[in-house]
Order: sequence, then structure tokens, then C-alpha cells
Amino acid sequence: MLKEPESMDECSFFTRRILDDGTKLVAWVPKDTNIVNVKYTCGECGKSGEITQEFKKPITFVCQFCGHKIVVEPLNKRRGRRKKKA
Ligand SMILES: [Zn+2]
Repeated sequence: MLKEPESMDECSFFTRRILDDGTKLVAWVPKDTNIVNVKYTCGECGKSGEITQEFKKPITFVCQFCGHKIVVEPLNKRRGRRKKKA
């Protein structure tokens, strides 16, 4: 079971996202490593899993239960294009 970082000081990258396909995830890169830890709930099958893999952007992985491909698009791609919900 992956343990989420307690503070940003422990990681060089951290994101918490809900993707357009309904997938919810938390991803982080522990400091001084080139791996990314991901905890996710698949938007396709609804199951929750964890993945650790080499850190490359965009973070891309496949749901280990249903094979659904999950891509964590960089946020800045959409900058200024979406209205913020209040
Ligand atoms: Zn799935």
C-alpha cells in the first residue's frame, strides 16, 4: 500500500486530479527519484489501484483491472480555456 507524502517537501512533483473520464488519482514523485507513484480510482471500472513506474510526462498508465488507458494531461495545456467552478 502506497503511503501518500505528508508534505510537499518529500516530493519533487505532486498532483491530485479528476480526469475527464472520471478517473480520480493522486500522483507524486519522491525527491531524488525518477519514479512516480500513482493511486487511482479507474473511471471505467471503478476499481482502485496503485502503480509505481518510471516518471515521464505525460504520466500514462493502464488500469490493471480493465486495461483502460489513463493519461494525465499536463494542466497548463488548458490554461485559460476552462472556466473555474466557484
Ligand atoms: Zn479500470
